Amino acid sequence: MVHNPAFAIILAAGSGNRCPGPERKQFIELKGRPLYLWSVESFARSPLISAIVVVGPPDDADTVGLMRTQLQSYPKVKKVVAGGACRCDSTANGMIALQDLAPLPETPVLVHDGVRPLVSQDLIERVSAAVDAERSAIPVLKPTATVKEIVDGRIVGTIDRNRLGLAQTPQGLPYGLLREALSYRRQHRLDLEITDESSLLEILPPERRHKIIQVGLEGDPDNLKITFPEDLRRAEFLLDQVDQAGGESFAPRWSTGFGYDVHAFAADRRLILGGIEISGHPGLAGHSDADVVVHALVDALLGAVGAGDIGRHFPDHDPAHRNRCSLDFLKHAVEIVRQRGFRPQSCDLTIVAQSPRLSPHIPAMQKRLQPLLDCGLNLKATTTEGLGFTGRREGIAAYAVATVSSRP
Ligand code: MG
Repeated sequence: MVHNPAFAIILAAGSGNRCPGPERKQFIELKGRPLYLWSVESFARSPLISAIVVVGPPDDADTVGLMRTQLQSYPKVKKVVAGGACRCDSTANGMIALQDLAPLPETPVLVHDGVRPLVSQDLIERVSAAVDAERSAIPVLKPTATVKEIVDGRIVGTIDRNRLGLAQTPQGLPYGLLREALSYRRQHRLDLEITDESSLLEILPPERRHKIIQVGLEGDPDNLKITFPEDLRRAEFLLDQVDQAGGESFAPRWSTGFGYDVHAFAADRRLILGGIEISGHPGLAGHSDADVVVHALVDALLGAVGAGDIGRHFPDHDPAHRNRCSLDFLKHAVEIVRQRGFRPQSCDLTIVAQSPRLSPHIPAMQKRLQPLLDCGLNLKATTTEGLGFTGRREGIAAYAVATVSSRP
């Protein structure tokens, strides 16, 4: 069955004051990755979702900027915008961002809490499939306990639990209907506390509301909303179960980058290669310390996360980089890789030089570079049998391949 492509709005704007700690709840890490990124990851993987808008905290440009960096490697994330004073304002900001994508009135928009990291592909699929122009789809869990009505600490009655459902997200609404409800709320200045998109439809006037069908789909008990520290522990436990079962639903993403660099010999310079000094041999010309090995490695790491090249981050006309130790560039490149949600997993380099003889120096280079990368590192050296510019001893070349993954 082919469905319309759907859009997702991930709300990561809340202040989350029930979970202790200095950070906002959506940025607390679950297995090394912020909670909201788990949600983004699930929607990004769904073939039914064609575009995602992420809504960050209001009045916090630094955090929204950091989120944009973290989300750069997700092509489906079209925009990261600041949220508003309440959930509806945040949803409204997400909807404004979706306008550029020219949605149709019946296009399903799935609004999801950034603090529900374990949303399954099955739930995303069922919610998207159930939405049409006049129909919303809301996942609900049936209460299993007996539900009491309590007033001032005293039980005043028992509520028929068969008539109740605990709403989850993603909540699926057609774009036109969600926009209509948001503008109705704005026009009538309704300041009611609205805690989900389904209740937004309930504020519409009765004659309009009667034409809308809200379908309650079966929710997923594992689709936890992380509210208290024990929820986080339970989420970790559930993820371990998925890992042990060899589940694919949280498979990490992998990426590879390539780097190449050349520097010419210069008699009056020290030779710095792979972060170490090799004495008794002319050095290499360059603006920084001209460590051609580290430069190739930096380009490979930047390439793996689509972050351009070394010249973009460390321009050679910048006086700050004159004679700079290239290991600083390497540390910065590893930081960029991490900011984009990846970690180096393995690096392989080949240094091409007719002289000096490099094999005795490889272990020292390895020892210097490996702790900065914190991953597998393989270093090799070769000559070109006297051929070409390296063979004529005019300079040194280096090739590097870096593989990174989002595995925590
Ligand atoms: Mg260079």
